Amino acid sequence: MEAEKQANGEATGRRSAGKILMATVKGDVHDIGKNIVGVVLACNNYEIIDLGVMVPTAKILETAKAEKVDAIGLSGLITPSLDEMVHVASEMEREGFTIPLLIGGATTSRVHTAVKIHPQYSSGQTVHVHDASRAVNVVSALLSDDQRPAYIADIRAEYQKVADKHAQGEADKQRLPLEKARANGFKTDWVALTPPKPSFLGTRVFENVDLSELARHIDWTPFFQTWELKGRYPQILEDKDQGTAARQLYDDAQNMLAEILKKNWFRPKGIIGFWPANAVGDDIKLFTDETRSAELATFYTLRQQLSKSGDKPNMALADFVAPVGTKPDYVGGFVVTAGLEEVAIAERFERANDDYSSILVKALADRFAEAFAEVLHQRVRKEFWGYAQDENLGPDDLLQETYRGIRPAPGYPAQPDHTEKTTLFHLLNAKQRIGVSLTESYAMWPGSSVSGIYLSHPEAYYFGVAKVERDQVEDYSRRKNMPIREVERWLGPVLNYVPSSKDGD
Ligand code: SAH
Repeated sequence: MEAEKQANGEATGRRSAGKILMATVKGDVHDIGKNIVGVVLACNNYEIIDLGVMVPTAKILETAKAEKVDAIGLSGLITPSLDEMVHVASEMEREGFTIPLLIGGATTSRVHTAVKIHPQYSSGQTVHVHDASRAVNVVSALLSDDQRPAYIADIRAEYQKVADKHAQGEADKQRLPLEKARANGFKTDWVALTPPKPSFLGTRVFENVDLSELARHIDWTPFFQTWELKGRYPQILEDKDQGTAARQLYDDAQNMLAEILKKNWFRPKGIIGFWPANAVGDDIKLFTDETRSAELATFYTLRQQLSKSGDKPNMALADFVAPVGTKPDYVGGFVVTAGLEEVAIAERFERANDDYSSILVKALADRFAEAFAEVLHQRVRKEFWGYAQDENLGPDDLLQETYRGIRPAPGYPAQPDHTEKTTLFHLLNAKQRIGVSLTESYAMWPGSSVSGIYLSHPEAYYFGVAKVERDQVEDYSRRKNMPIREVERWLGPVLNYVPSSKDGD
């Protein structure tokens, strides 16, 4: 290895401090390629191999072996990347890796690293790098034969403490058996409430979208988060610490936005659908037609199991849909994308070694996808589902999401199971009709895409399922007809127990 590094150094005219593989796992609309840690390490003489976004575990590990890297760095900006990191760690263990695993990015934390990722990979050391400026120290300690043993011992002691504290906190929380949680579900008087009927059933495609209308609906706050600038737009532009950076970034974004609009760089596409539906327990059954005699598909939902105070319900999304035998109800679904062009344009910048513009264009494509989801949702309420024809909310009001109805996204807190996207994509035939597909880790491709289901219940709101118990996972596995191990894998971050070992019960 040393000899190879030497050779490498000669080739590049300087000696590499080590070879680090970087990847952003489980990319989603908010995840963009460059992670700051990689940039900082590159500036400090480390050789970085950046695999970009939405990298499947197998590819990370294959590349790590082929390139004989000294460490792997994973980044993720959104919650769905967390379970994928756990998976990468367990696969590294299984495949006999011993090199360090670095964890970074906005949603990662020391607690998650200590509690979930570190225990999966005992043959090597996992380290949470909570800000990029520390990356160089961490990596040099991990790659130094002198410093490594003491450094790892410190990390392990620290993670043990964090894990113990976390376990105590969890043990102090009361959780309900699934049956009890169900009995305390959200109740609706379905005699008084008649669910609205959509203006059409089945699907409809949207193309030739006006980019300038979408631009007016862009939510800029998450745009700054992409660059780890935290704060609300527009106040962030005047922030005393981040203002200068934020203004520079915003100016660059405005310039590129003008170009996007002028040259019509993106061709957003969307598809929506509505189906007759009723709840059966925690499942939402979709029917082929209004007779509701034949089932078309099922959206499975998960229920909160934390013991609640007062009369607070234990929520599941199915509670927002009329139970079978009460009233006819409906659900909708959507997939939107900023378009395939984004990928080609970003690649063009990368080939020209203009990483900054490549990130910028991807971040703007994300913004267009989100804006499209918002604009389309409004048309759904006012026109296609039509239950809020008089709604009169402007772009800023829309971002508060104070309107009637929600569009929960699979993989988000109200339905943490990413595999539910399969059903949605199948129903909408999203791949054939608008060119959006799912990767093996259930991320959407192209990355600048958004999907979800539409619920019309007047009191529907976003909640988090939080941790689920084994009884619910078993029940869910039976309902969904998915092996329990697979359910446990996808629900990894929300399991309130340690799944039994890999080799059998
Ligand atoms: N204006 C934001 C909109 C995206 S975030 C932007 O431009 O980025 C809000 C969206 O995330 C919601 O519309 C919903 O689709 C999803 N979401 C947020 N909280 C959720 C939850 N608890 N459960 C499911 N989906 C959620």
